[in-house]
Amino acid sequence: MGSIDTPTITENGSTQLQAAAPSGGDHKPPASANGAQVEVSPEPEATKKRRSSMLPLEVGTRVMCRWRDGKYHPVKVIERRKMPYAVPYDYEYYVHYTEFNRRLDEWVKLEQLDLDSVETVVDEKVEDKVTSLKMTRHQKRKIDETHVEVGHEELDAASLREHEEFTKVKNIATIELGRYEIETWYFSPFPPEYNDSLKLYFCEFCLNFMKRKEQLQRHMEKHSEESYNLACILTLPPYQRKGYGKFLIAFSYELSKKEGKVGTPERPLSDLGLLSYRGYWTRVLLDILKKHKGNISIKELSDMTAIKAEDILTTLQSLELIQYRKGQHVICADPKVLDRHLKAAGRGGLEVDVSKLIWTPYKEQS
Ligand SMILES: [Zn+2]
Repeated sequence: MGSIDTPTITENGSTQLQAAAPSGGDHKPPASANGAQVEVSPEPEATKKRRSSMLPLEVGTRVMCRWRDGKYHPVKVIERRKMPYAVPYDYEYYVHYTEFNRRLDEWVKLEQLDLDSVETVVDEKVEDKVTSLKMTRHQKRKIDETHVEVGHEELDAASLREHEEFTKVKNIATIELGRYEIETWYFSPFPPEYNDSLKLYFCEFCLNFMKRKEQLQRHMEKHSEESYNLACILTLPPYQRKGYGKFLIAFSYELSKKEGKVGTPERPLSDLGLLSYRGYWTRVLLDILKKHKGNISIKELSDMTAIKAEDILTTLQSLELIQYRKGQHVICADPKVLDRHLKAAGRGGLEVDVSKLIWTPYKEQS
């Protein structure tokens, strides 16, 4: 790192004034901490030159930065990046406010920095070496506490440094969750494909995250071209055989009923999945057939249960309840046969209390 000549020129008295951008014809508004109106006079050529010679600022530079409170606070430059449109010196700087917690670290624009306050650049590596040589582990830790999250005491110095280097810049600046936009506090290890996203959109129900708002909207309307109403059931071994899978199946059909659509599970089904579904379909359909008087069609069964017609047909066929008589398919509903099948299908899982289901299907919202 070369040394940068920073003569101490004070112009315009004590006001923090920057009349013109360091390059180009782009004029900045005067930065006035107290909001007072100030007369802007053209900047001397020497000042312009001196400022351009500083840019881009080196990582490690200490400078005053205008924060969201409109006041200037001391910061240290942690990282810098070139802006997409590459005008010379067009960098953004990731800064740590030395007075504040690390969670307030952020990307700032050059115009927020008061270049007159740039401190003589200290070679970081030399500074670090001196620090680690002269300080005890305890002293060093005390100093590092403002920079490193607690909870990493078990890491050795090298791993800690590596961790710190890796997490020094927040990757995601904000997230959208429900009706809130939330600023993030720290770096978070998202998969690399999310690293160029400043903002992520979260589903507030399952915490799935997406890069674009449209993806989230699609995720929220529970829309499926194939009319799938359930994608996957996961019950970890210690929680199996307690009726949770059956509960989820029943619940998915209650959602479909509320939507006024038929639903079916995503294919292919696993052997256990098929068994569970066959059990559910058998219980629901045969219960209706048992109580029903007179004729009933597959379509009517489907309308009552939100079970897809194909699933009704294959269920009844597998139970050999469909017979072909006089040129048409007929459901045979002998009560004794139905009872036998119902017994074999076993009991349902935990009961779904529909009166507790509070949900407005997407199409009804607009
Ligand atoms: Zn979700």
